[in-house]
Amino acid sequence: MSSRILVTGGAGFIGSHLSERLLAEGNEVICVDNFFTGARANIEHLFGNPRFEVLRHDVTFPLYVEVDQIYNLACPASPVHYQHDPVQTTKTSVVGAINMLGLAKRLRVPILQASTSEVYGDPAIHPQTEDYWGNVNPIGPRSCYDEGKRAAETLFFDYRRQHDLDIKVIRIFNTYGPRMHPSDGRVVSNFIVQALRGEPITIYGDGSQTRSFCYVDDLVDGMVRLMATGHDVTGPINVGNPGEFTMLELAQAVIEITGSSSTLDYRPLPQDDPKQRQPDISRARAELGWQPTIALTEGLRSTVDYFRGVLAV
Ligand code: NAD
Ligand code: UDP
Repeated sequence: MSSRILVTGGAGFIGSHLSERLLAEGNEVICVDNFFTGARANIEHLFGNPRFEVLRHDVTFPLYVEVDQIYNLACPASPVHYQHDPVQTTKTSVVGAINMLGLAKRLRVPILQASTSEVYGDPAIHPQTEDYWGNVNPIGPRSCYDEGKRAAETLFFDYRRQHDLDIKVIRIFNTYGPRMHPSDGRVVSNFIVQALRGEPITIYGDGSQTRSFCYVDDLVDGMVRLMATGHDVTGPINVGNPGEFTMLELAQAVIEITGSSSTLDYRPLPQDDPKQRQPDISRARAELGWQPTIALTEGLRSTVDYFRGVLAV
């Protein structure tokens, strides 16, 4: 059955792929975005679809629409962008969550929160399971994002306890793919852009820190599966690819796929940069029947093709 679905942050990297998937399934999509990090170019190809609508709106202000489901993705995700205006980042996470939860409560519809592996901070246990409470600095440069997302999770679970809302909290691990912004500072886009331009690849620290990279199509599939669950499934649920790589291994893979002659340029490690990160996805497997299907090299190839087009190199 088709639904009318609100996607906040719908003009961003993940939101544009999610909107595309929901439209392909026959739904109506209302994309709400203030275009802080999102772009028209990400959703331009959807403008011709009569079931797609865009509202320029900031989620820190109340929103009145009539929908059957809400996906709340609005929030800058790249450290460079979320640290640019940290007060606005916390507001977007916290006030944005309150506004979208209020909307879900009025409409009595399910609402999914795009949470993050950053709620685990610099984790003391490895891999991270959902019952781990995290190791987060409350006063550092990453706190506006990490603590904002943690407060949003608290709000979601309080709306559940207080108002019996149908909430779904997904903890997204590093996701990559086409439509990442070329200058958003995240590691996959940085490395690919640098490799394609033949510029030095910037390794922060000694490059031994790890991340687990999930291709965007796999992530979107996990989000849609979580939304399709019944009232009793709330999460939090980790969704990510357990394949874990050091930043040096990632740089090597990007150099091989692009055939670049780029050298490595070692830079200081940013403050509070997590040393390792890998999702335990047992819960996603059991409750969603979900697991990633796209290996890093395969996903990197299509991401490299996308950036070749954008950069025309
Ligand atoms: P993105 O920056 O490409 O997209 C975020 C979108 O939200 C942008 O279109 C931006 O303009 C919009 N936005 C920001 N503030 C807003 C506001 N106040 N009102 C309305 N719109 C606003 O980032 P993304 O990678 O697509 O991330 C989407 C969501 O997924 C975010 O909530 C992010 O925290 C979460 N997430 C992403 C990753 C990842 O690896 N990409 C990992 C964990 C969690
Ligand atoms: N990183 C890097 N070079 C870059 C950008 C990032 O070595 O040009 C490192 C960064 O220090 C971190 C990892 O890559 O250890 C992932 O960074 P990103 O900003 O993509 O995401 P997050 O730190 O939020 O996981």
